[in-house]
Amino acid sequence: MIHKALGYWIEEAGPQPEFPVMTGGREFDVIVVGGGFTGLWTSYHLKSGEPDLRVGLIESHRIGHGPSGRNGGFVDAMWVSFASLVKRYGSEPALRQARAAEQSVRQVGEFCEKHGVDAWYRHSGYLNVSTAPAQDGSWDDNLRAMREAGILDGPRELSPQEVQAICASPAFRSGVHYGAAATVQPARLAFGIREACREIGVELFEHSPVVRVEDGPGEVTVTTVSGQAKAPKLVLSNGPTLAGQGSPLRGAVTLASSHMVITEPVPEVIEELGWTGGEAISDCRALLTYFRTTPDGRIAFGWGGGRIAAGARRFGRAELDADVIDGVITGLKRYFPMLEGRDLEYAWGGPIDASPTHLPHVISLPSGRTFAALGYTGNGVGPSQMVGRTMASLVLERDDEYCALPFIEPVEALAKVPPEPFRWAGGAVIREAIGRKEEAELIGRSVDPVSAAIARIPQLIGFHIGR
Ligand SMILES: Cc1cc2nc3c(=O)[nH]c(=O)nc-3n(C[C@H](O)[C@H](O)[C@H](O)COP(=O)(O)OP(=O)(O)OC[C@H]3O[C@@H](n4cnc5c(N)ncnc54)[C@H](O)[C@@H]3O)c2cc1C
Repeated sequence: MIHKALGYWIEEAGPQPEFPVMTGGREFDVIVVGGGFTGLWTSYHLKSGEPDLRVGLIESHRIGHGPSGRNGGFVDAMWVSFASLVKRYGSEPALRQARAAEQSVRQVGEFCEKHGVDAWYRHSGYLNVSTAPAQDGSWDDNLRAMREAGILDGPRELSPQEVQAICASPAFRSGVHYGAAATVQPARLAFGIREACREIGVELFEHSPVVRVEDGPGEVTVTTVSGQAKAPKLVLSNGPTLAGQGSPLRGAVTLASSHMVITEPVPEVIEELGWTGGEAISDCRALLTYFRTTPDGRIAFGWGGGRIAAGARRFGRAELDADVIDGVITGLKRYFPMLEGRDLEYAWGGPIDASPTHLPHVISLPSGRTFAALGYTGNGVGPSQMVGRTMASLVLERDDEYCALPFIEPVEALAKVPPEPFRWAGGAVIREAIGRKEEAELIGRSVDPVSAAIARIPQLIGFHIGR
C-alpha cells in the first residue's frame, strides 16, 4: 500500500501542467487566494460572468492538490443537514439554502458536460445507513424537519432488506436514501475547473504562498513570498489555513482531518454486494465513515476520525497518519469482510475545517472588500460550486438570489471555538471520547461512563459534531 499525502485521485488524474510563481507587483480586479474548489469555482464564475475582469488566483502549492483533489468525491446537497439549517436560519431561508445546494449538485454535472470534463460524475444518490442500534433512526429529526417544511417527496426511509438490496454489507441495518447527490473523481474535477479557468483567462499562480493580507484603505494588498498584488476585491478561499494565526476568522473553525484508503479493482466484490448503482454511502456516526465505488471497480473508503490539529497545521498527521489509517482499514473490513486479503493500493488524508455549526458559512468582512468561505466540515464538494457563485455575486455586487442566501453572515455572527491551546486540547479529548463511544456501540459493548459524558460535551455547549 502506498501511503502518501496526495493519495490516489491526483495520481490517477495524471501529470498536470505547472503554473508560474507570482512575482513583482501585479494588479487585478479580484484576487482569489487558494486553488481548491472554492477558489476555482469563484474564479470560474467571476470570469465567465464578466469576461473583462482581471482575476488572479494565487495558490501556495499546486492547484487542486489540497483536500479538493483528495476527498471522497461525494457531491452532496445539504438536505442531510436540513434540521441544522432550520435551527440556524428558520424554515424558509433553510429551504432556499438547501434548494440552492441541490441545484449545485446538478450544476457540477452540467459544468462537466459543457466543458467535456471526464470527472466520473455519477448522479446516484446518497445512502445513510445505520451500523449499530445507537445509529438507528438518527435521521428522524432531519426527516421531520423536512416534512414540517413541506418536503413530502424527499428522502426515502429504507428497511434493512431495502438497504441490503442496494449494498449487502452484513453490518448494515436500516437507512435513508437522499436522491440529490452524485460522486466524482475529485482531482479530475478540480483540474477540469482549473483548465476552464485558464481557457477563459483567469491568471493562475502556483507555489506562491500568501504571507500577508492588508485590507484597505481603498484596496487590498496581498503579499506572497516573491511578489505583491493589489485589487479592489479579495476572496479568501484558502480553506483550513483560515484557522491560522493572523486570520480574521481563526476563532470560527477547528482543524480536524479525514483519511482514506482505496482497494485494488474488486468488481466481483461489488457485484456480490449488489452495489452496482454507484451510491455514495456513509454510516451515521459523528466520526463518519464514508465509502463509494469507482468506474473501474474499486472501493474508496474513508473515516473522519483523524486527529485535531493545532492552529492551522495542514501537514504532518493531518495528511499522513498511520494510526488513523489502521482505524480506516478496521472499518473497511468490518463493513466489507469479503475484502480480507485484497490489496489496498493507496492511503492518504487531509485537513478538514470544522465549524461549530457543521455548516459552511460565507463571510463578508467589515471593509466590504474581502469575502471568505469556511467551515465545510468535510462536505465542501457539492456546496463549493454554490459558494463560488455566491462569492462572484457578492464581489460583483449583483442583487440576485445568491446574494440573498442565509449562509452569508457577518463575522460577528459566527459561533466561536475556544482559543489555542484549548481548541486543540479540548477538541482532541472530545474526539477521542466520541471515537471510544462509537467503537463500543459498533462492537456491542457498553460505553464507559467517562467517554459517554465527555462525548456529550459538544451538544451541551451547542457544538454540532458530525452530520
Ligand atoms: C480525506 C478527505 C475526504 C473528504 N471527503 C469529502 C467528500 O466526500 N465530500 C465532500 O463534500 N467533502 C469532502 N471532504 C472535504 C472537502 O475536500 C472540502 O470541503 C473541500 O475540498 C473544500 O475546498 P476549499 O477550496 O474550500 O479548500 P481546499 O481544498 O483546502 O483548498 C484551499 C487551497 O488554499 C491553498 N492555500 C492555503 N493557504 C494558502 C496561502 N497562505 N496562500 C495561498 N494558498 C493557500 C491550499 O494549498 C489549498 O489548495 C473531504 C476532505 C478530506 C481531507
